[in-house]
Parts: sequence; C-alpha cells; structure tokens
Amino acid sequence: MSDWVSDNIDKAEGLARKGLCDRCLGRMFGKEETGMTNETRGIMLRDALRESGNDIAADDLCPLCGNIFDLLPRFAETVAESVSSVESDNFLVGTRVDPLIAKMEKDLVAEFGLEHSEAIKSELNREIGKLAGPMIDRPVEFESPQVVACIDTRFADVEMDIKPLFIAGRYNKYSREIPQTKWPCRECKGKGCPRCNNTGKMYSTSVQEIIGDIALEMAEGKEHFFHGMGREDIDARMIGDGRPFVLEISNPVKRQIDLDELEKRANQSELAGYSSLHFVERETVRKYKGADPDKTYRARVKAEGKVNKQELIDVALTFKDVCIDQRTPTRVEHRRADLVRKRVIRWVEAEQIDDYTFDLTLETEAGTYVKEFVSGDGGRSMPNFSDSLGIQCVVSELDVLAIKYTERE
Ligand SMILES: [Zn+2]
Ligand SMILES: [Zn+2]
Repeated sequence: MSDWVSDNIDKAEGLARKGLCDRCLGRMFGKEETGMTNETRGIMLRDALRESGNDIAADDLCPLCGNIFDLLPRFAETVAESVSSVESDNFLVGTRVDPLIAKMEKDLVAEFGLEHSEAIKSELNREIGKLAGPMIDRPVEFESPQVVACIDTRFADVEMDIKPLFIAGRYNKYSREIPQTKWPCRECKGKGCPRCNNTGKMYSTSVQEIIGDIALEMAEGKEHFFHGMGREDIDARMIGDGRPFVLEISNPVKRQIDLDELEKRANQSELAGYSSLHFVERETVRKYKGADPDKTYRARVKAEGKVNKQELIDVALTFKDVCIDQRTPTRVEHRRADLVRKRVIRWVEAEQIDDYTFDLTLETEAGTYVKEFVSGDGGRSMPNFSDSLGIQCVVSELDVLAIKYTERE
C-alpha cells in the first residue's frame, strides 16, 4: 500500500461511507500524489479499504457531484461550439459550479481536516479543457487568454469573456465642430429627447465614432471606447502628425480585421483623418493616458487695437522658457477645481496678418491653457501675451500642430 494511501485510510473510510464516487473520493486527496487522475486515486483508496475489510460501494448518485462528470462530453462540446464562434489564438475554460456543491465540498474538507484536496471547479476546468481542446484546435492559455468560456454546470450554458481589441494610431481633426469622443446629450444622458433630436448626442459625430463605428462593424464587437493622449477643444483642429489614440472594441467576434481597410474607410470622412493604425495591448492605454507631452499650437489672434509689427515680434521673443501662473479658466471653472497651475511657455513666434490680426505659433508644456495665455483671462493667467503687448487680444481659432511624443517600447 502506498504511503499516501495508508496515511489517509481513516479519512477515506469516513468519506466513502458518505457514498462519494471514485472521482470525488480521489479528489479529496488530489494533491497528495501527482501523476494520476482523481478517479484512479479514488479506486486505489476503495481497493485498500476493501483489503482491510471495509467494502464500501459508491452511491448510484454521488451525494457531492451528482454524477456531474458524466456530462463532461456535453460540457466540452458546448464550450467548443462557443469558442469556435469567435476568432482567437487561444482559450481558457472556466466553470461555475452549483453553490450547494461548493458548500458541501468546503464542509467535507473542514470535517475531515483535508489539507491536500483539489476543488471540483479546478477538476472540471481541466477535464473540460482536455476534451474541448482537440475540437477547438487552439492552445489553452492560462496567463492572458483571449477568450474565456465559462460554463455554468447547472444549465450547461456558456458565458464568453472576450478580451477587447486595442487599435492604436494617430488622428487629425479637421473640423471645428466635432468633439474627440462621443458626447451624450446633457438633457437626456443618451436616451433621446427633443433637444438632441432623439439622437441622444450633443454632436452628430466625433473622432471616436467615425473610426469606431466602422471598426465595430468589422470586428463584430459590442461597443467602442476611445482613449486619446489628451484632447483638444471642440473648436480646435488637430493637424500635423496627429494625436496618438487607442480605440478599444469590446467583445470582438473577429480579431484579425484588416487595418488598412479600416484606415481607408475611416479616412473617407472629411471631418477627421487616421494614420499608423496598429494592434496594441491594453497596457498602451495606460501609457498614453499617463503621457504628458509638450505641444505646439497655432493661434489666430484678434487684437482690439492696431498692432505694430516689430513690437509684436519683440514681445513674442520675450516668451522664451517663461513660467506662467494659470488660475483655472473661467470657461471651465464650473467643472474643475479653482487652483493655480505653473506652466512653461517654451517659445512663441508671431506673424502679422493685418493691423488687427496675427498668428502665434507656440510650444508649451502639457496642460497649458493657450487661449488664456493670450487673452490673460481677466488677470487669471500671468504673465500673458495681451499685457505684454499692451493690447487686449483674443484667440479666434486654435490648431494643435504637434504632440511631442515618440513611441518607446
Ligand atoms: Zn462525485
Ligand atoms: Zn437628448
């Protein structure tokens, strides 16, 4: 008799008298000895009991598992069917067991002081995975599966947990009338009302929706989410190389979508443009969200008085690595805490358009309020361009020219 069998023979007798099947009996000692199935363990224990004069048969219906393991082929088929209905490089099986079984299992472990038992859930996962694997023809992945098929053993139905698809790229926003992300109606919060013409939205479309709706259709996903590296005001354009973003598609049935085709279709829009699309992992979202890149802007500025060209150029040159104090702008005061931020204006270049109009190109630290730097915002941004020029100015149009971010692996 093996050591682990003789060491546990008393506990095994008590468990066998409860009528457990071989699998359940063996599983109670599942981590005692490797290299055999729980069923084999159970048979070994029952044989040893018989040899010592205790011939204890299993009940017809196991009081613990209810003979659930007879259903393994059916569970495996259901899992295989579900997993095969979506694209993935790998999969993992999960199990939801009847809470009554889980409770009884816990009680037995406590009653007999079992320290090396295996949970029924883990045996089910493994055995279903073993049977389903060949039918699916994809490897099992424990660390980061693209698909988890979780089978509820009471009803034999499968719930699929599909890893989202993450597509990174850069976007341009050519329109001053669309926001970066989908914007639910303020009145009805998206349900639809007279104010939003029953669209549920404040704006007819967005940088997110133009590409997201197409990607969603191609991937046969459920929803799209947009993670930009910061955002510009609705009335600002994003030109130049564009702004990095990650588009997230939840519950994609297809993962191998053609990104060239997506780019081509999305770029048919005149409101926004997309480039450098590539697949990334979720990790990139956090990376982009945490990035604090400097930005270059171009502002069209209107002055209340006549502007002298040389003075304009001289004033622009004084803003070389200048630290400014910006109190929360009046225009966003209602949604942000009122505090003073220090920001650096790296450089400013000016170009006169006419007596009352000029363009400023400027590079600033992340988070600088450019419109307020130019206008002064009633003294809330100090120093500011209007004070330095001695003429009140206001930004009439703003473009983001460049986001200073280089991709690092
Ligand atoms: Zn059983
Ligand atoms: Zn509405």
